[in-house]
Amino acid sequence: MSELDSLYQEILLDHYRRPRNFGALADPDRAAEGDNPLCGDRVRVEVRLDGERLVEVGFTGTGCAISTASASIMTELVRGRSGPEARELCARFQSALTGGGGPEALAELGELAALGGVSQFPMRVKCATLAWHTLRAALAGGKAPVTTE
Ligand code: ZN
Repeated sequence: MSELDSLYQEILLDHYRRPRNFGALADPDRAAEGDNPLCGDRVRVEVRLDGERLVEVGFTGTGCAISTASASIMTELVRGRSGPEARELCARFQSALTGGGGPEALAELGELAALGGVSQFPMRVKCATLAWHTLRAALAGGKAPVTTE
């Protein structure tokens, strides 16, 4: 295992053990739920908006280390961004994992690069992108509480 791989491993384990922004929001404007039956991951993403801006993003649910770490990193990355910026990040992440861009394509996205290695494991791509699809559904959907189960 290279030094970079073990650094990435540490980042993912840290987010899995101490997920950031884990918990329901007091007063969400948008929410959606998603699940990944292949692995058993379930997530609910809640967003509080100020105009276009995502001022608070939280998530709840249960899942494997990759889905939890990805959701945790996502909440930190999209908070403070506008809806279109958040959607663009979702699209970039998705195409890096499925289009073979791998870690290089995510290099400028901070801790998100730690998930780039998942692109080598198609079964785990759905784990990594679950929270992102759910965020997109929340942003596209109506007002909370919304469920997409
Ligand atoms: Zn999973």
